[in-house]
Amino acid sequence: MHEYSLVEGIVESVKDELQKRQIAPEDVESVYLRVGVLALHSVESFEQAFHMQVQDSPLKNAALKVEVSPGKFECACGYTKPLNLGEIDPHDPVLECPQCHQIGRASGGMGLEAFEIEVSTDK
Ligand SMILES: [Zn+2]
Repeated sequence: MHEYSLVEGIVESVKDELQKRQIAPEDVESVYLRVGVLALHSVESFEQAFHMQVQDSPLKNAALKVEVSPGKFECACGYTKPLNLGEIDPHDPVLECPQCHQIGRASGGMGLEAFEIEVSTDK
């Protein structure tokens, strides 16, 4: 699964952050993640991978919010186009420019770009 190794790294980052901020993992209400479009196939499979990773940990009850940040195709001729989920194959992020027909690569959106942790306060 493509998402699996990415998610593994993300879960580690989240745990590190919790430790740094001295937050107990069971107090985490939700985890918000912004992930680049080239890092995942679909939000569903990404969420599935996340839940698989945390199912045996205190983070298992945390809700996951995923936002996908678009990538960008930029051609030497000046043509640019934002790339959303489904518009680019993460394994082969190559596109033909519709303007000059050169082959170019998509940029941006390769991995985790930001995350936030929301902690439950009603304790
Ligand atoms: Zn072009």
